[in-house]
Amino acid sequence: MQTYQIALLGGDGIGPEVVAPAVQALETAARRRGEFQFEFLPYSAGAAEYLRSGTPLPDATLEGCAAADATLLGAMGLPSVRWPSGTEMAPQIDLREQLDLFSGVRPIYLYNAAHSPLKRYGEGEIDFVLFRENTEGMFASRKIPADLSASEVRDTLLVTRFATERICREAFLLARKRRKHVTLVDKANVLPTMAFFRSVFQTVAEEFPDVQTDKVYVDAAALFLVKNPHRFDVLVMENLFGDILSDLAAGLVGGMGMAPSADIGGKHAVFQPSHGSAPDIAGKGIANPIATILSAAMMLDWLGGEAQTAAAGDIRAAVRHVMADPANATPDIGGSKSTGEISALVLRALEELPT
Ligand code: ATP
Repeated sequence: MQTYQIALLGGDGIGPEVVAPAVQALETAARRRGEFQFEFLPYSAGAAEYLRSGTPLPDATLEGCAAADATLLGAMGLPSVRWPSGTEMAPQIDLREQLDLFSGVRPIYLYNAAHSPLKRYGEGEIDFVLFRENTEGMFASRKIPADLSASEVRDTLLVTRFATERICREAFLLARKRRKHVTLVDKANVLPTMAFFRSVFQTVAEEFPDVQTDKVYVDAAALFLVKNPHRFDVLVMENLFGDILSDLAAGLVGGMGMAPSADIGGKHAVFQPSHGSAPDIAGKGIANPIATILSAAMMLDWLGGEAQTAAAGDIRAAVRHVMADPANATPDIGGSKSTGEISALVLRALEELPT
């Protein structure tokens, strides 16, 4: 039987609380399909690790992630633990850069009308995937410390043909498996880098004549995401725009606790919820585990193979079954259930699915 080695990085705050049920979901889904299994290899990373060892991403952790078949990550960083420069530690961003995880893939799916602040949408009526370029864009100069006594400080927005082509191509490849529509989000009316991004997008679009496209400025995209989210299938954009709009998009379907994500490169991939370490609720047993459980399903899809894809579908079906009852909810989505109660319901639904 095939055994996948998965690097497990619980991290800080609610990270370990939401990773534990995702591991159980992966084990249960694999056991039911009977054709593969997992070996989980825990590694330490994050703000707590920095306090222990002086580095938030030890070499052993990075090497473990590089050697594993995939990585499952909880959350990293704590507002109270900062570099001497004042910025928060973000080893998950370092991982993206070190492992060249160029695609930030953020699926947005509404599981229950009760979760959305937009009351006119039902289950599945908000359903799109946002692709965020992960390696450059407005994050390109993030490691250059700001001189806070200077009279001006600049950030560089870097757009290369290479990185833009590859993220756009990934967006088109996924659109081909969905509703065959890609929206480019940019600011080509103002920024030269974005005019360049648009021209590269156009070149890639010509490789996919079967996929329809449109182009929306980022400010209008924020408006349309709220007014007409059902019009979107796949969206692709620069790093900072993706950072901001993916949080807005998560808000449409219940918030960060409902938004899975994957950072995918040519060889490696890291799966984690879109949310951070949520120190305000850490240790209270009320973190929503659904985003991490759905990230685990994305891992199964990425690992590939018929049984793995079926197992990913099983996890989503179990989540859909549980979320159909709006009372099955942690406080962030309007309920009063605990992390443990929601996780147990999803695991039971998974066990009870027909194979
Ligand atoms: P980061 O910058 O590291 O992504 P953040 O500052 O955006 O983090 P989060 O940690 O994502 O902040 O939390 C934002 C808000 O969402 C907090 O109020 C937090 O409690 C809530 N939140 C985040 N994740 C969850 C979750 N899984 N369940 C319930 N609430 C959550």
